[in-house]
Order: sequence, then structure tokens, then C-alpha cells
Amino acid sequence: MYPKLKLFIGGQWKNGAGRKTESVINPVNEKVLAELPHASKADLDDALEAAKRGFETWRKTNAWDRACIMNKAADIMRERLEAIATIITQEQGKPLFEARLEVAAAADVIQWMAEEGKRSYGRVIPSRLPGTRTFTVQEPVGICAAFTPWNFPVLSPARKIAGALGGGCALIIKPSEETPGAAVEMTRAFAEARLPEGVLSVVFGMPAEISEYLIAKDEVRKISFTGSIPVGKHLTKLAAENVKRVTMELGGHSPVVVFDDVDPEKTADIAVGGKYRNAGQVCISPTRFYVQENSYKKFAARFSAQAKAVKLGNGLESETRMGPLANARRLDAMANIVADCQSRGAKIAAGGTRRGNQGYFFEPTVVTDLQDDSKLMTQEPFGPIAPIIPFKTLDEVVARANSLPYGLAAYAFTSDTRNANIISDALEAGMVGVNTFSISMAETPFGGVKESGYGHEGSVEGLEAYTSKKFISQA
Ligand code: NAD
Repeated sequence: MYPKLKLFIGGQWKNGAGRKTESVINPVNEKVLAELPHASKADLDDALEAAKRGFETWRKTNAWDRACIMNKAADIMRERLEAIATIITQEQGKPLFEARLEVAAAADVIQWMAEEGKRSYGRVIPSRLPGTRTFTVQEPVGICAAFTPWNFPVLSPARKIAGALGGGCALIIKPSEETPGAAVEMTRAFAEARLPEGVLSVVFGMPAEISEYLIAKDEVRKISFTGSIPVGKHLTKLAAENVKRVTMELGGHSPVVVFDDVDPEKTADIAVGGKYRNAGQVCISPTRFYVQENSYKKFAARFSAQAKAVKLGNGLESETRMGPLANARRLDAMANIVADCQSRGAKIAAGGTRRGNQGYFFEPTVVTDLQDDSKLMTQEPFGPIAPIIPFKTLDEVVARANSLPYGLAAYAFTSDTRNANIISDALEAGMVGVNTFSISMAETPFGGVKESGYGHEGSVEGLEAYTSKKFISQA
């Protein structure tokens, strides 16, 4: 059920022979799923040499032919959706129904970028000199390096692969060592779709060593990273040494503002679904729930009751609504956040502890009566803990919602259009959902402001991120 893990360099699969390896752990039972080979420096040099050749081929391949290959890879992924989804659930823990949606979304983003590559338009600028033309064209940035985390094992790498390949670039990607299987299977789909050698290489190893090695190389012209803010800052500094392009998709701490003019119980039902998706390990996860004072009690009571009813278990079982956390670090982080809340007199209205002693299960948790400066309210929890806080006025809640250095997603629930307009303008975030948590699709731009990041993935902007504009003046 779980694949043999290999590196993919210059169109060749490389196994663990003679290489350092690390174990991939199933978060449901802490058992080893497979051994993952690490790339050596020689492997990285091979990937760079292959990328140079791959880029020369791919940049000259027209956008229609590129799209055929990319669409073929997306189709293969759709045919193997069930198998790839099962791999995700095994290595990452999320329930199978979420993993299926993730694979489908990954195939969509590849298809979107394949098609959008055909529309990578330049523009004609009216020339001020007679008999001359002035215009711009879009060109691929070059060889890119990307690094993706463990919370979306296939969608996160798919966004980077799709943007790079759609834009005509070659890419060396290092998916997460903790969740490598689905990314390896996606790579297999590209190989079977006959992607030219070297256009895509997939490596694993010590994250800091690989990123430092690749970012320092002259031939790598762009870096794309999804992960935590501290690592994003570090990689941005490395890229700045040689003025390399970056896309940074970093952490979030999304406020959710619930006004008195919506049904608090119905809104709580929707919010519980959003909060415990992927056990809260989502950068756009709804994180801080600010509920207007007249609705607060009803919302908190309903949310807590629904949180207690979330079926926690093995994601491969059909009744499971929330799986284990992806790794032991998250368990420690959750215990630490809950302890901080308790030490400051907050109330644990649901959950609050680890479930069992095998696997990384943590109960869907709700915290009330807490202070704005607690860890939960100021640091990204990245887990299944929901703080619920009352507010009085719009101005007050906007100030509190915007008080953190994060600016990825924000949400508001209101039936008043004027409220909706005012708050969606006022919230400092790259993405705002009004009466919805659905803010991530292949065709829509995904990205943050403030310390949550720089640049976008998905949509037209996600393709532009892998192209450079060239101005041509022709006399
Ligand atoms: P971490 O900061 O050590 O790692 C985050 C990710 O970055 C991992 O996938 C890791 O392999 C990678 N990474 C770490 N150092 C790197 C380096 N020098 N070069 C390249 N890649 C590197 O923390 P973690 O324990 O894995 O995750 C904890 C925090 O990370 C979470 O609390 C959350 O804030 C953040 N996170 C964010 C996202 C996201 O989607 N934005 C995803 C996963 C984790």
C-alpha cells in the first residue's frame, strides 16, 4: 500500500543504495512505513546539471506541448486518486475524505497552470517614435528550487511544480521528509507523462543542508518555500545574497469575526468543520474566533458540543472526522499551549489532552475566557485548539484581529452587506472569506501579507511568479 521511496534526478529513479536513509513514520501507530533515501551533494549536483539540460529543452517546448504533458500527469493522478489519497492518510494522518480532496485539488492546479501557460501574454506599448514597436514578453525565470512541508503532502508540491512547469521553468523540489510518498507518486505521474529529463527533480535530505546548498548555486534563479515564518525569513536572507526571486507561503493566525446578525449555532457548525480540518494543521486554518457579545454564549456552547462530537481516529476508517497530528512535535506544542492557557486561568471547554498513548492523537479542543496575550492568541497553534473570545464593536474587533504580525487569511460571518464590505477592507490579510472558509482553489490567488509571506501561488499570479517580464524596443 505504501510506495518504495526513491529520489528522482535527471529522469532516473535513485534508491537508497549507499545513501543515508531516514524512517517515515505512520502517525496513527508510530510504526515505520518505509525508509527514505537522502540525496548526497553529488546527487544535488546531478540534479542541477540535469536541470540545466531540462530547462533548455522545456523553455523551447511550446506552451501547447507543455500543457499536453502536464494535463496527462494530472489525468494519471486522477486515475490513481484513491491510491495516492491512501498514501497521504498513512504518512500524514488526515482522514481519507480530506486526502481525496487534496489529490483532486493537486490535479486541478496542474491542469490550471498547464492551460494558463498558453495565456502568458505580454503587451504592446504604444510607441512614441515613428516606425518602431515597443512591447513586453514573459520569459521563464530559469531553474527554481522549492521546499514544501508535511501538512499537504501532494497539494503543496503540486502548486510549485505546476507554476514552475507552466511558466517554462525547470524545478528541483524537496518535499517534506516526513510525508514523501504522495509526492513520489505525483512525480511518477509526470515521468509516465513523458516530462523531459531534468525538468523536474525530486530530492530529500536534511532540509537546511539542501536549501543552503541549492540557494547558493548561481544557476538557481528562484526559491519557493511553504512552511514556518522563522525558516521563511532564513531562506529569504539566503536568497537575498544573490538577489534571487522568492515566493514565501508562511504561517498564519487567522481571525474569524462572527457578528450578532448571523445564526450563532449554524455558524458554529460551519466553524467546527473548518477548524478541525486536517486537525487544524493548515496555514489558513480559522484560528481565533471573535464572537459578538449577544451571540457569544450560544456560539461557544454549540462549538464546544460539536467539537466533543468530532470522531477522532485512524483516517483510513470511514467514520473518522479527524486523524492524529502529523508528528510528535505537534503533540508537545499542543500540550504547551494548553498548559499556558490553564496557567492564566482560561477555561478548557472541550478536549485539552492527548488521546491514548500510541499515535499522535490530540482531542479537538476549545478554550474560553482567555487573555489576548496568551500563547494561543499570539503564536500559530497549528493544531486542533480553538479559542473563542467575545467582542463588542466592529472597530474593537478589527484592531484585535489586526494586532498580530500574521496576515495570511481572515474570515467574517455577517448577513449585513455593509458590515461585510467594511470588514473585508479592514482586515489585514492576503485572503478574506466572508461567510465561507473556502478561499483556496486552483484559479484563485493564494498568498499572505505582513510576516505571512510574499507572492502568490495559484491563479494568474501563481504563473507570473515563475516568469520574468522582458521589455523589447524594436526600431
Ligand atoms: P519547522 O519550522 O522546522 O519546519 C517547517 C517546514 O520547513 C518543514 O517542512 C521543514 O522540513 C522545512 N524546513 C525547516 N528548515 C528548513 C530549511 N532550513 N530549509 C528548507 N526547509 C526547511 O517546523 P515544523 O515542526 O515542521 O512545523 C512547525 C511550524 O511550521 C508550524 O507551527 C507552522 O507554523 C509551520 N508550518 C507552516 C506550514 C504552512 O503551510 N505554511 C506548513 C507546515 C508547518
